[in-house]
Amino acid sequence: MITLETTIEEVPNIGSAYHKKLKKLGIETVRDLLYYFPARYEDFSNIIPINQAKVGETVCVQGRITQIESTQTFKKWMTIIEAEVEDETGSLKVLWFNQPFLTKSLREDDFVCLAGKVTLSKNGVYLASPVFEKISEISDNDDLTHTGRIIPVYSETKGLTSKWLRYIIKPLLEYFFDKMPDMLPEEIVKKHKFLPIKEAIWQIHFPESFESIDAAKARFSFENLFLLQLNILRQRAKLLQKTAPVCKMDTELMKKFTESLPFQLTDSQRQCAFVILTDLGKPTPMSRLLEGDVGSGKTVVATMAALSAVNSGPAGGGYQVAFMAPTEILASQHFKGICKMLEKFNVTVGYLTGKESEIYKDGKVSQVKKKELLLELEFGQINILIGTHALISKGVIFSKLALIVLDEQHRFGVSQRAQLTKGKTLIPHLLSMTATPIPRTLALTVYGDLDLSLIKEMPKDRKKIKTVIVEPGERKTAYDFIHKEVKEGRGVFVICPKIGEDENENASLPITGSFAPTNYTQGVLGQIEIKTVKQEYEKLSKEIFPDLRITMLHGKMKTEEKQRVMLDFKKGEIDILVSTSVVEVGVDVPRATVMMIEGAERFGLAQLHQFRGRVGRSDMQSYCFLFTTNPDQLNRKRLKAMIDCDNGFELAQKDLEIRGPGQLYGAVQSGIPDVAMEGMLNIFLVEKTRQSAKELLEKDPELKNYPLLVDSLKKFKQRVHFE
Ligand code: ADP
Ligand code: MG
Repeated sequence: MITLETTIEEVPNIGSAYHKKLKKLGIETVRDLLYYFPARYEDFSNIIPINQAKVGETVCVQGRITQIESTQTFKKWMTIIEAEVEDETGSLKVLWFNQPFLTKSLREDDFVCLAGKVTLSKNGVYLASPVFEKISEISDNDDLTHTGRIIPVYSETKGLTSKWLRYIIKPLLEYFFDKMPDMLPEEIVKKHKFLPIKEAIWQIHFPESFESIDAAKARFSFENLFLLQLNILRQRAKLLQKTAPVCKMDTELMKKFTESLPFQLTDSQRQCAFVILTDLGKPTPMSRLLEGDVGSGKTVVATMAALSAVNSGPAGGGYQVAFMAPTEILASQHFKGICKMLEKFNVTVGYLTGKESEIYKDGKVSQVKKKELLLELEFGQINILIGTHALISKGVIFSKLALIVLDEQHRFGVSQRAQLTKGKTLIPHLLSMTATPIPRTLALTVYGDLDLSLIKEMPKDRKKIKTVIVEPGERKTAYDFIHKEVKEGRGVFVICPKIGEDENENASLPITGSFAPTNYTQGVLGQIEIKTVKQEYEKLSKEIFPDLRITMLHGKMKTEEKQRVMLDFKKGEIDILVSTSVVEVGVDVPRATVMMIEGAERFGLAQLHQFRGRVGRSDMQSYCFLFTTNPDQLNRKRLKAMIDCDNGFELAQKDLEIRGPGQLYGAVQSGIPDVAMEGMLNIFLVEKTRQSAKELLEKDPELKNYPLLVDSLKKFKQRVHFE
């Protein structure tokens, strides 16, 4: 007996040649096949009399084959099958190119239904390589699969056609028509007036109308997002049953800390810090995302949380904090910055990356052996350990970890906490920080397991960054301006999309997928200069600014080298830094006032905004120059948004609209199915699913009465991996 779990190998009419190809599409079982939804549809539902077929139109006709023969062309050794098809109104020539096997299945006097384009060429008027299917007679009520209806078109892989998929899927749908289990609780199906599962799955593959496609899609988007929400809400519920270290808020200490800073906290910073410190004081693990535009001052807030943890905990040396950054440059910047902020607070801070280990104690930084650092950590002598991914490597053992701070790696928080707490009874609090604005739809889905805090305002002394799109003809003016800025002691960033000539060096190229400007790969290359860091460096240092100090920075440089360059730039020993997108996150150089971006159209809006955030970090007026050589109008419109809008949230929303959610935040790798992705754009749907999931879990937290749902949830978790 065939069930939904039956593997494709066991399905009789799937030949062994197809197994591998199906697996390539992620199809392993009958269920996968039925849930392999069409990428699009083609409307062949209108069958017309042959005498109404007009050149240039895509038509569907029915008729009898009066003649069929196969010929060879000598030039290309191509087989052409030529047939004549007639109905009561007339006859039409049909040509199939390169499908020699057709003569095996199509014979004279066969009745066929054909869908294809009526073409005119030196061969006369003919129907070009139409999709065909045999029928018993000319009629309206044949049950057609490939023609004469709205037909499903699937994403195909080599050697696997939509026609074949239709041929395989249709009988399975028929077989399962009354056996399709519905994972959605009946009351939900009723409440939202969804199609019953058997209808929905039929209509999504072989729809009666475009309306029924929409109805089916609505149900499946709901299904997926509903599972997503159930998953998130159950995980949260589970976490809330765990115990976390209590870090009591010490208002005196916090006051002392803020008074020691060279600036006043903004109201937003104050509010966020208060919420976080309150969370830390509770015995349940915090999971919080601290969101704030670049330069809004998240690090200070995190440092307050860290200080609070260090100040709490077992007598004789408080709790520990793990502080993780995505790159060595950032980790080292945090180490320096945080040590400085904690100067007067008698805190021991460790620093650990793949290569380096240092300890800050009693106002001094000293290099130590990694082994020694790890030992001190295990004995609880180190209060805060700052570093890269090295923090979660083997042998790094915290004895009393109370707080994990993650900078710019929000998507990994949950699994990293899991790695750091393996076998521990106390679950540390998690504070994740990001400058990536997260639209509400994503906050409730991809990031749905985190509470959100938002730093809404920038430090008061900041001026709005002036953004300008620089046309090719205005380059000189821009250069003159930059020269003037440098002469006044300011720093300039130049960002290029590539490191060097070699395409393979292109790893950090940000735009992929549907919004990659396709004309780059399709021959316009000659017209478009693609800036490379090396070329640009040569040009700027030799031709444009021979009198200025210019240096390169890119991902292929050694860490020490990168750090030295950043430090020199920060100190003012470098005027212009020509860089790839490695400076994207978090690097703080207050003296930099010009951000110049080459090939700006190649970057996403959110990313451009991140680059722009590298300047404007002091009270000096800063500038962002977007250089573009691509006249493409769509890109122009996108870039204009950068001028009109200095709010990361709005830009992210625009990016989301233009590029779709898949291209954002790597969500495309998360395994969320396309229908759910589409649904994610829809805040109403997201809220509806969340509400439904909440209601169901309130009624039945363990989903005891919904075994099918539990089962689907399990499978969903295997398929979707946010981490
Ligand atoms: P981000 O939120 O991008 O991580 P940082 O924490 O790196 O921002 O802060 C950016 C810069 O602003 C730092 O030099 C920091 O010392 C400074 N800063 C933070 N808060 C304030 C404030 N309230 N007023 C003035 N400067 C601040
Ligand atoms: Mg930061």
